[in-house]
Amino acid sequence: MAEQTLSATAPARRTPNRLVPTVTAELVRSIVRGEFPPGALLSRETDLSERFRVSRTVVRESIKVLEEKGLVSVQQGRGTTVQPRIRWNLFDPIVISACQEYDADFESSAKLVVVRAAVESEMTRQAAERFTAGNAVQLGRMLAAFDGIGDDGPAFLQADRALHEFIVDLSGNEFASALSRSTHAWVVQPAQLTNERLVTTIHDALAEHEAICAALCANDGEAAAAAMRAHILDSWRRTYSLLSSEG
Ligand SMILES: [Zn+2]
Repeated sequence: MAEQTLSATAPARRTPNRLVPTVTAELVRSIVRGEFPPGALLSRETDLSERFRVSRTVVRESIKVLEEKGLVSVQQGRGTTVQPRIRWNLFDPIVISACQEYDADFESSAKLVVVRAAVESEMTRQAAERFTAGNAVQLGRMLAAFDGIGDDGPAFLQADRALHEFIVDLSGNEFASALSRSTHAWVVQPAQLTNERLVTTIHDALAEHEAICAALCANDGEAAAAAMRAHILDSWRRTYSLLSSEG
């Protein structure tokens, strides 16, 4: 499949740089799905060059990108070794989307939910402390927008994402905002979940959003943090039970 994709883009030697992202993404997916497990050596440059039908320069540049993402370590004379997952730049868009694609047992999803719950609850606490009447009007409008969504799962996820990003942004911590943006898509949009099953979780989420909003409006940091933490963990429990029963 990879060969077809790449050979279709043809003149490798004249436009080597355009092929680097494609080869890099293929290699990331190969590593994430365990074709080259941590500690193993990546195939030699000449073999990868043949496999992807690209020049060795393209392979070399792609490996350089993999090294920047923390997936491999290149040692002269010893080849390219796949690094342990703990070294990977998991928030890189290519790496995180490959990890989601190959998270068959939802183990990574569960770990990420714990991180999101910790970070977002703390950011919600900080947002509550600086929450203004103007913010309350904005948040009220966002909550009202859910009324028109009904049972439209994808529209719900989009509105949900906007609401969470709004609250994290209010904390004023741009690191938390970046983390939230790079992880939220994974947590709330499991591709395996059909719309009919997704909507069964929406009603619970709406009540939880109301609780978060009430605590924010009261400038009650403790209550806001607790409500956000409960919402994220409970949403995951609901989603997980659907995913497990759907398989
Ligand atoms: Zn939510």
